[in-house]
Amino acid sequence: MIELDDSLVSWVRDLRRWFHSHPEPSFKEHQTQEKVVQVLSDLGIECRRAGQTGVIADVRGNGPRRTIALRADMDALRIKEAETELNREYRSQNDGVMHACGHDAHMAMLLGAARWLLEHWDRLPGNVRLIFQPAEEVPPGGAGLMIADGCLEGVDAIVAVHVFGNMPLSRIGFRSGPFMAATRTFKVTIKGKPGHHMCPQNNIDPIQIAARFVSTIQTDIRQRLNPNARYVLGFGEVHSGSQHNQTPAEAEVVGTFRSYDVRDSETIVAAMKSNLDGLMETFGAGHDRIAPGNSDRVPSPSEVQSPFSPSYILEAEPAYPPLVNNPAFTRRATEVLRASLPNVDDDMEPNLGGEDFASYLQERPGMFLFLGGGNPERGITAMNHSDRFDMDEAVLATGTKVLLTLATDFLTDPASYLGRLA
Ligand SMILES: [Zn+2]
Ligand SMILES: [Zn+2]
Repeated sequence: MIELDDSLVSWVRDLRRWFHSHPEPSFKEHQTQEKVVQVLSDLGIECRRAGQTGVIADVRGNGPRRTIALRADMDALRIKEAETELNREYRSQNDGVMHACGHDAHMAMLLGAARWLLEHWDRLPGNVRLIFQPAEEVPPGGAGLMIADGCLEGVDAIVAVHVFGNMPLSRIGFRSGPFMAATRTFKVTIKGKPGHHMCPQNNIDPIQIAARFVSTIQTDIRQRLNPNARYVLGFGEVHSGSQHNQTPAEAEVVGTFRSYDVRDSETIVAAMKSNLDGLMETFGAGHDRIAPGNSDRVPSPSEVQSPFSPSYILEAEPAYPPLVNNPAFTRRATEVLRASLPNVDDDMEPNLGGEDFASYLQERPGMFLFLGGGNPERGITAMNHSDRFDMDEAVLATGTKVLLTLATDFLTDPASYLGRLA
């Protein structure tokens, strides 16, 4: 059983407050990176910068055995933090940027784990890799850059925890297998034919095409997907036009879609293409040739049109892969966590959020766990990404313990986590 002394717990809390008051958005985590490097150096842990604004370090134990990686993400969000009773002492000092997803806590807990591991290195039968990763919030995410920079070299397994605002304090929630979604951002650019509203027969209105797309795509996707497949598609932005009496040239629709299976996400892209192909045909009909001439009379301006077909560009960014917890690893982790912590839910419902930790889990066995930071009695109930998001800081000790429990147990008995791989 891992015990943390009070000085370590308050050190972690102070670090979390420092990170919280100095939030930086994705790939801009310069001050954050400096702070991590400085804290590790003060502890005497060698580290290197990676993934633009990330940091990699190792705590070496006694003996060159297995290595387990623990990962914290570093970026904040472009959200203006609300003033609350709770955050008076550590409110964001960077106006319009806020640690609204708990990544401040993730870094503090990982540093806390590093300090504990250093104090116990002689009883540590292996190594722990510390991964501080930038830009979790923007696809394709910072994980890929960290992996390209070698953060998984020599690593046998990997773990991360994530604070969740509307989950009861210190509950630990996860499940074996698919746990979070493959998420993709899409952008449809529709090119119509601009013109004066007085002669609609000459124009092709991209706003109407966009509106048809928005109102019909969900049905088209349903027609193509296995009825048991779960997905969501949401629209985030629609842009078009600059003049009230002109049919504009272009319209743009932007959104995300999420599923537990990458094959479903390919089906969704195919449904979008055929939906848009159909719309191009419908709206382009009659515009693809020069209006028939009539030698008996001079054609009116509205009859004279040049050949034109509407067109579209569909961009669907590569997804965060679905996040899949390794079954053998999760089985052993469940036993160990249940034995040492009070509130462990190994049957948490999967969710359609996206998380770039999925990329590490494609490369190495391991798991991702949610950690409850909410406390309704103290008014802490806001969900992640809310401007009132906060946490009961008691979660910091729990999260540090989860990281240390799994890291030390893995290094003591890797075979029970890796199954046949060990
Ligand atoms: Zn987030
Ligand atoms: Zn997050």
